[in-house]
Amino acid sequence: FLESLKDKVVIVTGASSGIGVETAVHFARLGSKVVITGRNAENLEKTRKKCVEACADESKIVSITGDVTKSEDCKVIIKNCIDSFEKLDVLVNNAGILVMGSVEVATEEDYIKQMDANAKSVFLMTTAATPHLINSKGNVINISSVCGIRAFPGICVYNMSKAAVDQFTESAALDLAKHGVRVNAVNPGVIVTEVHKRAGVSEEQYQKYLEHSKTTHALGRVGNVEEVASVITFLASSGASYITGAHI
Ligand code: NDP
Repeated sequence: FLESLKDKVVIVTGASSGIGVETAVHFARLGSKVVITGRNAENLEKTRKKCVEACADESKIVSITGDVTKSEDCKVIIKNCIDSFEKLDVLVNNAGILVMGSVEVATEEDYIKQMDANAKSVFLMTTAATPHLINSKGNVINISSVCGIRAFPGICVYNMSKAAVDQFTESAALDLAKHGVRVNAVNPGVIVTEVHKRAGVSEEQYQKYLEHSKTTHALGRVGNVEEVASVITFLASSGASYITGAHI
């Protein structure tokens, strides 16, 4: 069923780092046409090269910088996709940030930053993409987190922002089903990326956190970006044609 992704047009947000890079490469390897986006142009170029290497066809990969907390940028990303490939089949809302902060210390700034990057971005990108997804009977995959389902200590706004993503996923699944558009969420546990660096967590603290996280998962280990990308490509494919409004 992954063959169904050949020549599908896919947008991956947050494609300049971590899960987004691997997801873009997975789609490229499967023959999809991929629009990669993020704010960091240098990192995005590295992803573009990896994708071109994976599909051996430069014309199938389009890179565009943008800030998905801004409505105008989201519209430009979608327009660029349509101008380049004339349609949109799959939107992967992966961009997100983590700011450490328990209820005692979290600030209004922490709140605005995370709600904007994690939740508002999903709303802006999905609504801007909706007419095109209706045309293609496409689908959306929102990268939420296990924190959207169960709160973890010390990251109150992050938990809240991911719960918002989960509720929006269900809402969009209900609203768009009549148009043949599926909307699902992926809720990973701890995945090794560079997210801790951006959150200001030291390497030593992060290693301790990874060790502890192993004990909180039934498999006794943390996950990797390939494992998340596999779930995303499955949800985007025809193999998931009866799955919508799910949190996996
Ligand atoms: P990274 O920090 O490695 O990557 C985050 C990506 O989001 C970057 O490409 C960054 O690009 C992009 N991004 C952040 N803010 C914006 C913005 N305003 N506009 C555009 N792009 C933005 O994180 P991960 O790969 O670990 O995380 C990816 C997603 O997975 C996030 O939504 C995260 O919450 C979620 N997740 C991660 C887990 C983990 O353990 N790693 C577990 C569960 C969920 P740039 O800086 O170039 O803008």
